[in-house]
Amino acid sequence: MHQLVGKSFLSDTSTTTTSWLEQYIPSQDQRQVQAFIDKAIKAKKPFELAHQVIQANRTLGWTFSRAIPIFNAMGEITEWFGTASDITEHKQAEEALRQSEQRKSFLLRLTDALRPLDNPVAIESQAVRVLGEYLGVNRIGYAKTQEDEKLVAVTLHYKQDVPGIEGLYRYEDYGPQLLQDMQMGKTVVRSDIARDSTLSDAEKAAHATLQLGATVHVPLVKQGRLEAILFVHSQQAHPWSVNEVSLIEETADRIWTAVEAARVEGDLQVSEKRLRLATEAAQLASWEWDLVTDTVYWNEQHFRLLGMAVQSEPLQSDAFLNHIHPDDRSWLTALLTKSITEQSLYDTDFRVIREDSAIRWMHGYGRVTVQEQDQPLRMSGLMFDITDRKEAEVALRETDRRKDEFLAMLAHELRNPLSTLHNTLLLLRLTRGQDETLSLDRALGMMSREVNHLNRMIDDLLDVSRISQGKIQLHKERLDIGKLIREALEAARSQFASRGQALTIKLPKEPIWVDGDATRLTQVVRNLTTNAAKYTPDGGQIDVTLEQQKGQAVVRIRDSGTGIAAEQLQAIFEVFVQVSASLDRPQGGLGLGLAVVKQLVELHGGRVGVDSLGLGHGSEFTVSLPSLPDGGLQHTSAGAGHATKAGRILVVDDNADLALTTAMLLRHKQYEAHTCLSGPDALAAVESLQPAAVLLDLGMPGMDGFATCRRLRALDWGKHGVIVALSGYGQEEDKNRTRDSGFDGHLVKPLNLQALTELLTKLLSISESGT
Ligand code: ADP
Repeated sequence: MHQLVGKSFLSDTSTTTTSWLEQYIPSQDQRQVQAFIDKAIKAKKPFELAHQVIQANRTLGWTFSRAIPIFNAMGEITEWFGTASDITEHKQAEEALRQSEQRKSFLLRLTDALRPLDNPVAIESQAVRVLGEYLGVNRIGYAKTQEDEKLVAVTLHYKQDVPGIEGLYRYEDYGPQLLQDMQMGKTVVRSDIARDSTLSDAEKAAHATLQLGATVHVPLVKQGRLEAILFVHSQQAHPWSVNEVSLIEETADRIWTAVEAARVEGDLQVSEKRLRLATEAAQLASWEWDLVTDTVYWNEQHFRLLGMAVQSEPLQSDAFLNHIHPDDRSWLTALLTKSITEQSLYDTDFRVIREDSAIRWMHGYGRVTVQEQDQPLRMSGLMFDITDRKEAEVALRETDRRKDEFLAMLAHELRNPLSTLHNTLLLLRLTRGQDETLSLDRALGMMSREVNHLNRMIDDLLDVSRISQGKIQLHKERLDIGKLIREALEAARSQFASRGQALTIKLPKEPIWVDGDATRLTQVVRNLTTNAAKYTPDGGQIDVTLEQQKGQAVVRIRDSGTGIAAEQLQAIFEVFVQVSASLDRPQGGLGLGLAVVKQLVELHGGRVGVDSLGLGHGSEFTVSLPSLPDGGLQHTSAGAGHATKAGRILVVDDNADLALTTAMLLRHKQYEAHTCLSGPDALAAVESLQPAAVLLDLGMPGMDGFATCRRLRALDWGKHGVIVALSGYGQEEDKNRTRDSGFDGHLVKPLNLQALTELLTKLLSISESGT
C-alpha cells in the first residue's frame, strides 16, 4: 500500500484529474470513477473504490483507493489525503474462484444432462444445448470429416436467432490454416472474423454468408485422422476468454467420451441381444455353474430339455447330474471334472432321462469361464437336443448294413441260376441231350426257369430304382380288378399245383372298377401270391379274395405259411429287408418284391397292409385301391391276347444268333419270319419282302436302328409298315425317344414272346384298319 497525498483530484484543477483518469484508469471505467469522485466531494465524505488501473507495464491491475477530500474554510476542496492498495492478486484470485465455480456448476449441469442418455445422437444434442445456453452463443454443432478429408458434413444441434447451416462444406473456403491446425489437434479460435488479417476477402465473405462473427473449432483427432469438429459460432465478434475456450474443449471431450461409451455399450447390447436371440432360435440350453457354491443357473430351454418346470432360483449341480442316463453318468462326471481341472473344452454327446422318463440324446459344450489365481470359479456352456440326428445316424448305419447284406445276397442270388445254367449248358454240350438223366426237355425246362428267375430279379432291381427316382409312369385305364386277378392267377396255377398247395379265389359277381395300370397291378398280385407260395409249406392253403369296401377295392391274399413275427411286420415293406437274411435261404429272392408292391400300390393312390398271428400261423396281405363308380365303359385292358393272324416279320439284328433265335420263336408262333444283319440289308429286304412289320435292333454298327427307321419311313412301305424297336434299354426316356423317331413300339431284350405277339397283334390290326 502507498500513500496518496496531493491535489491530483482537485475539482478545480480538472485537467489534472482528467489526466490522472486518462493515465491510470482504463477508458471504459473513467466515467464511473469520475462519478465516484464527484459524489465524494459533494458529500464531503471519503471516497472508497476498488477499480482497475493501468499499471506501469501497461497491463491492467486492480487498486483499492481510499481518499479523504480536505476543504478550506470556504468549503472549497484543497487537497486529497488517502491510500491506494494494489489488490490485483486478490482480484485475480477472486475472479479465478468465480470462474471455477461457474465452470463447476456448468460441468455439473452437463453431467446431469448426459447421465440418463444412452444414445449418441441424444448425447450430442443435449450437450450442445447446455453449452449453448451457458455461453449465450448463436450456433453450436458438429461437422464430420468425409472420406475425402477436405470435405466436412455439418449437422446442427443448437441455434439462436440465426439460420441453419446443415450441409457439405470445404475446409479450405474458411481459411488456409483451419484444416492443418485441426489435423494437429489444435483448437482454432477466431474472435473477430471481419477484422481477421489471416483471412482473405473471399474467406471473410464465405464466413459472412453464414453470419459468422466469431468462431471456436475443437477438433477430434483419432489415430491421426481428423474425425469431427465441435464448433461454436457467434454472430457478432466475440473476444473468447481462455475460460470459455477451455470450457468448450472440455465439453467436446466429454461429449466424445460419452458418445463412444454409448456406442460401445450399444454394440455390446446389440451383440448380447443377438446372442440371446440366436440361443433361443437354435433352441440352445445355456448353463452357468458356480464351482465355489456348486449352484447352476439355467435358461428356460435348459429346463424344457430336461422336461422340468422352469424355475427362477438357481439349483445345485445334482439337478443336472441326476438327469444323466445311468450308463453315461460316471464317464460324463469324470469328463466334466477333467475339463475343470485341466481347463480344457468339454464337448461331448450323452443321454439324459427327462422328467417324463423319455431318453433323449444331448450335445454338451462348455469350459471354465472365470478363474482367479489359476483357481476355476465358474464354468459355462450350452446343451442342445441331438436325438433326431442320432436316430438318423442309427437309421443310416442300419440302411448301410442292409445294403451290404443285400449286395452279398445279390451276388449269391445271381450266382445260383448262373451256376445251374452253366452246368446245364456244359452237360448238354457233353451229352448232346442223349443222356436220359438230363433229357433235352428237362435241360430246357431247367434253363428257362433260371432265365426267368434272373429276369425277375433284374426287373425288381430296375423297378425299385425307377420307382424311387420317380421315373415310373403308370399307363392307367379303367379296368376290372377281379378279371385282372383271375387272369394273373390262372397263369400261376401250375406253380401252386406243383407244391400241392390249394389256391382258392373268391371274387364278387359284379366287376369292381379301378383306374389302374394293368401290367403293374398284375405284377402286384403275382408278387404277393408268389410270396404266399414261397413262404407256405407244400400242401398249404392260399386264399385270394376281393371285395368292395367303402369306395375301395380290397384284395386279400392269405396263406397258411410261416407267418411273420409282429416286430417284423412294418419292416418287410422296406427295400433290402428280409426276415431271414442268412445266405442259405431256401426260397431265394432279393427282399425287393414287397418294396415294389408297396410303391406301385401307393402310386395308384392305394395302401398295402400285412397281418399275421405270429410265426407258424400264416400271413395276410391286403391291397386297397380306390375303386371307380360302376359305369358302362368296357374293359379296355390289352389283356393277354394272342396273335390272331400270322404275318410276315423281318427281324434286323447285327447279332446273328439273336436274329436267328428271335425269328425261330416267331415262326413257332406261326409268323413268317425273315432275318437280316444290318440297316442297309434291311432296306433292301423290306423292298423285296414287303413285311407286315420290322423288328429293329437299335444298337447296330454303321447304320443304327434310328437311322434305319428313318430310311424305312422314307420308303413307300414306310407309310403303313409297322416298325418295332428291340433294345437292351427299356427306360421311359428310351421309349419316348423311339416313339419320337418313328417307331410304333418298343420291346426290351430279352424278348418276351408273349409281349411281342400281343404288341404285333395290336399294331397290325391298327395298321390294317388304318389302311
Ligand atoms: P423276398 O421274398 O425276395 O425275400 P420280399 O420283399 O418279397 O422279398 O419279402 C420280404 C420278406 O418278407 C421276405 O424275405 C419274407 O421274410 C417276408 N415275407 C413276405 N411274404 C411273406 C409271406 N407270405 N409269409 C411270410 N413271410 C413273408
